Amino acid sequence: MKNIKYLLLRRITQVGILFLYFGANAYGWNILAGTFGSSLLFGTVPLADPYTTLQVLATGFILGADVLLGAGIIILFYMVVGGRAFCSWVCPINMVTDLANWLRRKLKLDKEEVNYRFLKRNTRYWIMVLGIIVSAIVGISAFEVLSPITIMQRGIIFGFGAGISLIIAIFLFDVFGVKNGWCGHLCPLGATYSLIGKSSLIRVSHDHEACTNCMKCKVVCPENHVLYMINKESIMVLNGECSNCGRCIDVCDDDALEFGIRSYIKNSKK
Ligand code: SF4
Ligand code: SF4
Repeated sequence: MKNIKYLLLRRITQVGILFLYFGANAYGWNILAGTFGSSLLFGTVPLADPYTTLQVLATGFILGADVLLGAGIIILFYMVVGGRAFCSWVCPINMVTDLANWLRRKLKLDKEEVNYRFLKRNTRYWIMVLGIIVSAIVGISAFEVLSPITIMQRGIIFGFGAGISLIIAIFLFDVFGVKNGWCGHLCPLGATYSLIGKSSLIRVSHDHEACTNCMKCKVVCPENHVLYMINKESIMVLNGECSNCGRCIDVCDDDALEFGIRSYIKNSKK
């Protein structure tokens, strides 16, 4: 159980959140209603996705104070728990891409990885900017039109239509194309949360003394460049692209990785 603790907790959280949205739609529950783009908690607290909010602002639409407050609440929340904690603890697409990653390892496809050198991890930041520019030009939130996250959420609540093909395409791309292709290279929402996560409080810390350099953490980590300190030094994982998924902690038999509170004094490196 130890080595799936965070995996289990994440799945419970992801499914639980979807269940609350489902309950709001099907039974009128008043706990969490709306979409990932804009929700209402307990019928009163507004929550708004920062990237969707940015796109709507770019269209020139005047947003209400409640939406701006909702985006502020979400930004503050993820500045504490880790920006991309949204990705690994909330976003339903993560269940698809984690499954693809697992299958990829089982099929040993990483050894024969198709060499997509043109697809860099920072492509997601360019897509993020592009989404805002296109929104400003066409007058609607561009990413929302095609967002697999919205498609997945709506599909689970109302049933899937043709949009399921996009989810299948992401799965196949991640299995047979680029490792961690969608979330780690293309998704503009993940990129936004990476920026928020750069200064977040809860981070994974690495104890170099306890580490036996087995590298199991690097095998399971979907963004393993953030674990550059393994075999080098005791320091926290400060890169915002870490999703605080806890898989590295789950698989570490040496207790060399654990969640901790960021120290702004000691860890001034990255
Ligand atoms: S990168 Fe995008 S699709 Fe992937 S988990 Fe994060 S928000 Fe969801
Ligand atoms: S460093 Fe650990 S917590 Fe961060 S993304 Fe990698 S496996 Fe997840």
